[in-house]
Amino acid sequence: MSYIRIDDNLELSEADIVRCRHCHNEIGHSDNILRNAIWRELAPTLDDHELCEEPGNYVDRDIVTRSAFCPQCLTLLSREIIPKGETFHRALSFD
Ligand SMILES: [Zn+2]
Repeated sequence: MSYIRIDDNLELSEADIVRCRHCHNEIGHSDNILRNAIWRELAPTLDDHELCEEPGNYVDRDIVTRSAFCPQCLTLLSREIIPKGETFHRALSFD
C-alpha cells in the first residue's frame, strides 16, 4: 500500500485514512485529517516564550494556544495561537 506524505507527522493512505507517521494510529480521514486527535487549549503566557507582548494590547478577545496530539504516541501534530472560540483553520482537505 502506498502513502502520500502530508507533513513530517501525518500520511494519507489509498483508503483516505490519515495516520500518524510515528505509530501508524488512525488520526482522521481526507475530509477531516485531525478528527481523532487529542485537542488541548491553554492560555499562552509571556513566560512560555510563545508571545512577545501581551495580547490584550492588540485584541479584545482572549487568546489561546490550541494544540493537537496523536492519541497514541502524543506527537504534536498542530499548534496555533488564536482567539478563543475560533474554528480550526489549518485543516487540510483533499476533496
Ligand atoms: Zn502517533
